[in-house]
Amino acid sequence: MSTNAPISTRPLAGRVAVITGASSGIGGATAEALAADGAAVALLARRGDRIDALATRIEQSGGSALGIATDVTDADAVERAGAQIRERLGRPSLLFNNAGVMLPAPIEELRRDQWNQQIDLNLKGLMNAIGTFVPDLVASAADGGPSDLINTSSIGAQNIFPNFAVYTATKAFVTHLSRHLRVELGPKFVRVMALEPGIVLTELSDHVTDDNVNAWLADTRERIELLQPQDVARTVAFAAGLPRHVNLQQLTVMPTQQQS
Ligand code: NDP
Repeated sequence: MSTNAPISTRPLAGRVAVITGASSGIGGATAEALAADGAAVALLARRGDRIDALATRIEQSGGSALGIATDVTDADAVERAGAQIRERLGRPSLLFNNAGVMLPAPIEELRRDQWNQQIDLNLKGLMNAIGTFVPDLVASAADGGPSDLINTSSIGAQNIFPNFAVYTATKAFVTHLSRHLRVELGPKFVRVMALEPGIVLTELSDHVTDDNVNAWLADTRERIELLQPQDVARTVAFAAGLPRHVNLQQLTVMPTQQQS
């Protein structure tokens, strides 16, 4: 995604973007897209080797990137990352709040471990990043520039997928939270978006333990052409590059052939 345009003329020049879940999938691709559009990007995820390699790639194509191995379920660790980002890159004006895990299984299997994993990351991890970076977003907007809180939800926030109850409920939280935060922060010129992708080919499904869900996912992969992470990344970069009075509040990105 590198481009030959000078950084200063790119749509996100001068902005600092924080991306959670940047070590793979949608987060990694979005970090590259935002950097290609001129943003300095801070990459957060637990796998430090992956984000360091991505930061190096971005720097080699003329961008600016900082990888900080962080477990976003640890509020203190996210605060420490925030301090490092402000010191090394400057004040963030974009949070792509994207780290998430999907562990569907019939409720009667009582996979409390998986329920908690999803709640800890998809809800609490998301809130930890909001707690650390919203003051930066508000301050950036007050200085007159664009400012974005983009939360990765899912079409699961709207639709019914059997055996995905806990995962989709965490994503309904993300969408509903985003709509409320938009009303609170919009008047301060912070844009808030709930990003709701359909199925994207990433590592998300690698963690699924349920045989029936895995069979359904494999069949879906055979039948339809799914989204690539770069497809979603482009839409995020597009939204961030719009004039600051334009807010895409809820963005559903579907594979063309996926019905629901
Ligand atoms: P990936 O599994 O590829 O990415 C998940 C990312 O979250 C990884 O970078 C992972 O990094 C990170 N992560 C996991 N746990 C933590 C943690 N405790 N602290 C910090 N980072 C963590 O999947 P996707 O790219 O698909 O998922 C990104 C988002 O998109 C998720 O919120 C997902 O729910 C959502 N989504 C995905 C869809 C899809 O079909 N793929 C559809 C709709 C929504 P690491 O392991 O290094 O920490």
